[in-house]
Amino acid sequence: MTPPQSRKVVVIGAGPVGCLTAIALAKQGWNVEVYEGRPDMRLPSSKLEAAASLRSINLTISPRGITAIQAIDPNAAERFLRATVPMHSRMVHDTKGRMTPQRYDRSGQTINSIDRALLNEGLLEDALSIPNIQVFFCHKVSSIDFDARVLNVRDVNGKKDVFVPFDFCVGADGSYSTVRRQLMRHVRMDFQQEYIPHEYLELRAPSGPPKEAGGEPTFLMDPNHLHIWPRGSFMLIALPNQDKTFTLTLFSPTEEFDRLKSPEVILSWFKTQFPDALSIIGEDSLLNSFRRNPRSPLITIKAKPYHYKDRVIILGDAAHAMVPFYGQGLNCGLQDVHVLAHLLRTHNVDPSYRPVEGAEDIQLAKALQVYSETRHDDLISIGEFAMNNYIEMRETLTKPTFYLRKALDNV
Ligand code: FAD
Repeated sequence: MTPPQSRKVVVIGAGPVGCLTAIALAKQGWNVEVYEGRPDMRLPSSKLEAAASLRSINLTISPRGITAIQAIDPNAAERFLRATVPMHSRMVHDTKGRMTPQRYDRSGQTINSIDRALLNEGLLEDALSIPNIQVFFCHKVSSIDFDARVLNVRDVNGKKDVFVPFDFCVGADGSYSTVRRQLMRHVRMDFQQEYIPHEYLELRAPSGPPKEAGGEPTFLMDPNHLHIWPRGSFMLIALPNQDKTFTLTLFSPTEEFDRLKSPEVILSWFKTQFPDALSIIGEDSLLNSFRRNPRSPLITIKAKPYHYKDRVIILGDAAHAMVPFYGQGLNCGLQDVHVLAHLLRTHNVDPSYRPVEGAEDIQLAKALQVYSETRHDDLISIGEFAMNNYIEMRETLTKPTFYLRKALDNV
C-alpha cells in the first residue's frame, strides 16, 4: 500500500504508453492520476466509435515491447503473448498472385500480431486494479503551468475546467501532444514534424469456411506471415487476427488515392495490382471500406529534450511518432517506460521525498536529464529504420538484386 504522503504523478493519456507508465510508477510508490480526454474505451459506445473509425485495428508487438511489459507487468505480458498470432516471415505477393516467403530471423524470433484494443484495455484494467492509480476519463488537459505544478483540465461531461496540482507529470498524449506543446514554452526544444506524402486506408478480409461442418472458421491465407504486396510507389499489407480474419492496410500517395474515385476504377486497379488480395477481401467489402473508412495521414515527430527540470517528461508518440513501416512505434513507447522506470530506480528517486517549497528533487531531475541524453539517439535511429523500411517494403523488395542479396546473406 502506498503511504499517503507519497508524491503525485499525473499521467496524461490512457493509451498503451500512459497505462504502462501508470503501472510502473504506482509500483514504485507514486500516487498516480491518469487524465484521458476520451471516454472509457471499454464502454460499448466507445467500441462502436472505434469500429466506425476503423483506426488501425491490430499492430505488431516485438521482443522490444514484450520485454518492457514483462519487466513492469509480467502477468500482462504472458496474457498478451497468448493472444497474439506470431509471424516468423514476410510473404511477398506479386501481381500474378505468386508468393515468396522471407524469414525474419534465423534463430526463430517472431513479430506478433495483436488486437490494439485488447492490448490497451488489458493494460488499462491492470492499472485500474492497483489502488494507488485513479483514471479520469473525458478529462482533457488544455494547459499546464509547470512552475506552479498545476494542470488545467477540461471535464468534458461536467463542462467545467478543473485545476489539478501535481509533483511530476508524464505526457503520454500521442502525436498531437498538448504536454509537448506546453513543454516547448519552457525548454529550448529542437522539434521537427513531417507528414510523408502517403496516406493509409484499412480494409478487412473475412475468415474462411470451417474445414468440416460445425468446425472453427479458417484463415484464407497463411496466418504466420506478414503479407506484403509491394508495388513501387504504393503497397498493401495484411496482418492476421485471432478471429481468423485479416486486417489489410493500403499505403499510397495522396494523388494515387485521389484517382480512385469510382467503384469501377477501384475494382479495376485492385484487379491489376492485387488480384489475389481482392479475391479474399471481396468486391463489396472493398468498396464499402473505400466508402466508409477514413484515409489517414502519417506523421513523424522528432523532439529533444524530452523533459523539463524535475517536472515533466514526454514518452511514446508524444516524443517520437514514427511511420509504422518498422512496426516499432508502440514497441519503442513501451520501451521508453521501461527505461524511465529503470532510471528512476537507479537514481534512487523516492516518491515520498518532498523537497522544500520551491526546491527541486535533484535525483528526479538528474534521472530525467539522463533519459533525454541517452534515449534520443536510439529513438532517432529507429525512426530512420522505419522510414528506410518503407522504401524496402514497397520498392526494394520488387527488385531482383534484393533477392540476390538475401540469398547471399543466407549462405
Ligand atoms: P496513443 O495511442 O495515441 O494514446 C494517446 C492517448 O492520449 C489517447 O488515448 C488520447 O485520447 C489521449 N490524449 C491526447 N491528448 C490528450 C489531452 N490533451 N488530454 C488527455 N488525454 C489526451 N506501432 C508498433 O509498435 N507496431 C505496429 O505494428 C504499429 N502499427 C501501426 C500502424 C498504423 C497504421 C499506425 C498509424 C501506427 C502504428 N504503430 C505501430 C504506432 C502505434 O500506433 C503508436 O506508436 C502507439 O499507439 C502510441 O501509443 P501512445 O500511448 O504513445 O499514444
